[in-house]
Amino acid sequence: MEILEQCIIEPIKGASFLYWAVVFLVFGCIVGSFLNVCIYRLPRGESIVKPPSHCPNCNWQIPWYFNIPIISYIWLKGKCHNCGKKISPRYVIVEFITGVFFLCSWLKYGNFNPYLAIVVAIFTAALIVASFIDFEHFIIPDEITIGGIVFGLVVSIVLPSLHQSSSWSSSLKQSVLGLILGTALIYIIVQAGKLIFGKLKVQISPDTKIVFTEEELILPDQIIPYCDIFSRKTDAIKIIAKRVELADRCFWQTQVVLTPEKLLIGKEEFPPDTISFMEIVADEITIPREAMGFGDVKFMAAIGAFTGWKGVVFTLCVSSIIGAIVGGLLIIAGLRERSSRLPYGPFISLAAIIWIFIGEEIVRIWLY
Ligand SMILES: [Zn+2]
Repeated sequence: MEILEQCIIEPIKGASFLYWAVVFLVFGCIVGSFLNVCIYRLPRGESIVKPPSHCPNCNWQIPWYFNIPIISYIWLKGKCHNCGKKISPRYVIVEFITGVFFLCSWLKYGNFNPYLAIVVAIFTAALIVASFIDFEHFIIPDEITIGGIVFGLVVSIVLPSLHQSSSWSSSLKQSVLGLILGTALIYIIVQAGKLIFGKLKVQISPDTKIVFTEEELILPDQIIPYCDIFSRKTDAIKIIAKRVELADRCFWQTQVVLTPEKLLIGKEEFPPDTISFMEIVADEITIPREAMGFGDVKFMAAIGAFTGWKGVVFTLCVSSIIGAIVGGLLIIAGLRERSSRLPYGPFISLAAIIWIFIGEEIVRIWLY
């Protein structure tokens, strides 16, 4: 801790406030570049350390001088230098907003406590990764949710000023309270959502391949973990299948029903845990529908551990307002069907970001 004090914190206090604002901005953009790697690789189960950055199209290993955040993207006009394939603007957007959030962390907390500025910056980085992964894959990886819970608890002990308290024990109490409240509230909403929305018939194009692995259901455009589908014994996935392929046999033109306790293929019954892999070709699938998934429950728990109970209540209220407005606008604009699923993680993240930067000001205006 003393070395950290001498090497990082003393120089931070010594140099001018503005100088460190620039450092946070630039460093944030560099971190954003790394977050892009996490966003691409975490949901695919790939290592985030090896191999070095490469073009997803031609596999060309990108040299450091073409990997400078934002600048390289503009310099190369958003294309791979080797194969000329367009690079998703997501890369430069993530680098930019990470830089901005790091800068805001310094502007808001730097004068008060440089440690806190660093910790808040890390928290915003986690929110960015969760949002972009959820937006694309409808999942939030455990690295972020479980990792975030541990991070929130540890920081609360080490840095009580996170919860504006002076002792580690009262700070930890705040953190645990936020964690429990966050979990409970979202869990209730998930369960209520299932009761209200009931089942969802997912429209899929003819002859779509549906894959069941040990942990998740894989559709062409989304991956749904079973824990998001099954919360009651009666929850069932129903498919009219053209072809069913198990590891050792095949079925044709039959109905498939999967519940947490049994797998029915036509009239044959199997215990689900004995089937490690199943591939189905079908035109239609019915799954129990939910407004949010179990990933959102863990995500909200992590946010609670970091922001305490006030942060949780604020995040929940504001995220549902933003979610309702955005969802409504998308339906009006004809970009989304009423029954289709909207990832909730990005709304939670946005609300949490608002809370840590201007939440208390907003609450003050609301209340007085
Ligand atoms: Zn390429």
